[in-house]
Amino acid sequence: MNATQITCITSASRAGKWRAAARYIPAMSLAVRLLGTSASRPTVERNVASVALVREGETLLFDCGEGTQRQMMRYGVSFALGDLFFTHFHADHVIGVIGLMRTMALQGRTEPLRLWGPRGASRMLKRAEDFGMDRLTFPLEVTELEPGQRVERADYAIVPFAVDHRGARAVGYVLEEKDRKGRFNPDLARELGVPEGPLWGQIHRGLPVTLEDGRTIESSRLVGAPRPGRRVAITGDTRPCATTVDASRGADLLVHEATFGNEEAERAVETGHSTAREAGLVARDAGVTTLLLTHFSARYSRDAAELGQEARECFSGTVYVGRDGMEIDVPFRV
Ligand SMILES: [Zn+2]
Ligand SMILES: [Zn+2]
Repeated sequence: MNATQITCITSASRAGKWRAAARYIPAMSLAVRLLGTSASRPTVERNVASVALVREGETLLFDCGEGTQRQMMRYGVSFALGDLFFTHFHADHVIGVIGLMRTMALQGRTEPLRLWGPRGASRMLKRAEDFGMDRLTFPLEVTELEPGQRVERADYAIVPFAVDHRGARAVGYVLEEKDRKGRFNPDLARELGVPEGPLWGQIHRGLPVTLEDGRTIESSRLVGAPRPGRRVAITGDTRPCATTVDASRGADLLVHEATFGNEEAERAVETGHSTAREAGLVARDAGVTTLLLTHFSARYSRDAAELGQEARECFSGTVYVGRDGMEIDVPFRV
């Protein structure tokens, strides 16, 4: 059962009705799967940076540290992905793309792979394409993105935003779903004599239906007002910054790096990273629902619980301390 249904169910009978409606009205799943949660280098417990965002069966990958392909196998993330977004080109976020592309070629992939990243992406990723002798079996499309340059898709957009990371042209990304259709009322549909089946889907798509007895039922009678889509922000490496607050304002989920704890606050400044507390402050200022911490220094590899505690001291929403393989569902707001 997906998260959308979970949020909608208030009783067993309601659950049954929703399951009936869901056969004709797709319930859109959205989940974030952490593939690597370690900063700079892998440890026994954690691999380096990569985040998979799986929406309605489509996989989008964000960063691809060394060994990401093996993490994908381990945690069931499809290789049939079309888009890989890079936040920046420090080694712990990019080296894995070489091996991943080689494996895709060995599998005989022919569909294009689209790589996206901040300025400098073309030069860097061209090297990755040439590395390893054999030619790829599929076209590689590399696009450099400026902050604010939206990548539009049918139901959502990916929007890069500038972050503050050691002078690198680093960006974070927001996945912004477009508004979705209003809620369908299965009880009223039955009352009006609209038979359960494809007509329900037709009404939900905004089309009127004509019943066997000649009555025409307008969609607006059975479907509520459009509802806002979900938003997920992924920072990559960064100091806490106003651009992240702006980009993730009101987001359902913020995936923020938290390389250090309070005791290493100075090192966070020196290295262009954030402490967990700073990530918590950004989440608080942006008013997000859920904060997911990742990109931990090796010293927290075994136990990063204290980082969660430090973030919770300033952010009252839900805080998750990331670990490799962790999956967070992003439900619609009711
Ligand atoms: Zn990093
Ligand atoms: Zn970095």
